[in-house]
Amino acid sequence: MPISFGLACPACGTLHLINRSFDRGRLTPLSRSDCVYTMECISCGKRICFSKHDLKAYSVSSLNFTTGYARRGQYTATQPVSTNNQSRSRNATEMS
Ligand SMILES: [Zn+2]
Repeated sequence: MPISFGLACPACGTLHLINRSFDRGRLTPLSRSDCVYTMECISCGKRICFSKHDLKAYSVSSLNFTTGYARRGQYTATQPVSTNNQSRSRNATEMS
């Protein structure tokens, strides 16, 4: 299962994978300094405004990875590495 950063539509839940979306020019940067973009949902047409901080890693099928989007229920959000308990306690030890 490929993992890619993406953004799920808040209205219909369709996941848009950013790696392909950028190439297709679906995203419109509003301000490069703020990393803010708008995107039109491929499924319901809703205008989504987001920043790079809103992107999360999702596990999708190879087919969805190729098409660049996945319907609700066809993707799984993966846990960010930064919330891992072991790495957090190790960092705390190094800082003390
Ligand atoms: Zn939508």
